[in-house]
Amino acid sequence: MVSSHGAQSPLGEIAARGPGQRLRPAAKVLPEQARAHNRALVLQTLYHGGAMSRADLARETGLTRVTISDLVAESIADGIIRELGIRESAGPGKPPIMVDIDREGHQIIGIDLSGTEVFAGAVLDLDGTRLVQRSLPVAAELGAEEAYRAALQLARELVAAATRPLLGVGVGSPGVVRSDGVILSAPNLSWHDFPLEHRMGADLGLPVLVGNDANAALLAEYTLGDAQADVMLIRIGKGVGAGVITGGRALIGARFAAGEIGHVVIGTDGGPRCACGRIGCLEAWVNVPRLTAATAASPERRDEILTDAGTRLGVAVALIVAALDLAEVVIAGPGELFGGVFLEAATRALHERTLEGVFADVAIRLSRQSDIVERGAAVSVLSAQLGVS
Ligand SMILES: [Zn+2]
Repeated sequence: MVSSHGAQSPLGEIAARGPGQRLRPAAKVLPEQARAHNRALVLQTLYHGGAMSRADLARETGLTRVTISDLVAESIADGIIRELGIRESAGPGKPPIMVDIDREGHQIIGIDLSGTEVFAGAVLDLDGTRLVQRSLPVAAELGAEEAYRAALQLARELVAAATRPLLGVGVGSPGVVRSDGVILSAPNLSWHDFPLEHRMGADLGLPVLVGNDANAALLAEYTLGDAQADVMLIRIGKGVGAGVITGGRALIGARFAAGEIGHVVIGTDGGPRCACGRIGCLEAWVNVPRLTAATAASPERRDEILTDAGTRLGVAVALIVAALDLAEVVIAGPGELFGGVFLEAATRALHERTLEGVFADVAIRLSRQSDIVERGAAVSVLSAQLGVS
């Protein structure tokens, strides 16, 4: 486990992070938080920059050599940082000792509860590499306790399969998730005001972090992928949800529902009936089961069906891109459906419907990551425990 330490550093030593870098904390840093902030900065720098000497770290972070030595020593004692030996150097003086995050010294569990047929999970190392995978078949209709027992069983199997100390368990859940891990509403799992994070944490005796599945996917794309600082990720499966990072900060919203774009009706010309009962929701147009069935039933109309669906997505995306001045939009979903004419149509609709010359370089692209929710759930643990994002 990562311990916390009482000692404080002066405010003046908090290094600033400029725009375009990694996720920034939402609030100003108080003196008592300074040490934790600096420690996170050191870990963040090593996580993304790789092995370096203490002197390199001081230069990269703007912190003093004394502070760096202190923070590195603390993290070595926690098993989070390790020394790698000396760097061969031609210059005068003692050759420096290289340090890095011990990427295999701890493990994280990432769980995806958004599947329609299985709950899936993995044991991952700190780089997001999956070491062990497990899945558990689940019924289409689950009662609240039944869904919880299945999720807990999967978590226990993964905890048992871990071979290093665990930093924690990250869970990506469908629905609206409050920041304390209470599922406000996830109809597919019969969860309403369900304290998933608290209950699972108590049952496992480990830190548990619960978040929305699309937000988890966005974290994976941002931290482990190559997403920019103003990005929206749209996850398309049985349902449609999105996560947004703007100015390097994850958008939460007034009711923890930022990115719940699936049930916005697109157009005034009707369309397919949605699971929610309305006609023409974005989710009704582009969900995977519908597009799979429609293209299989009329293979000769495949391009037409996917172009129409992609255009609907582009219409929805255009207003969001313009409102938030996003740099890019990432789609996480099956490439065989969304990679070709769908993506072209969505991009065309986006560019036709936004101010020419301003948003012309905004790209819609497919994520290259598989099992993105599991990996993102693991990133949420990294972020909470080490401050790495
Ligand atoms: Zn709907």
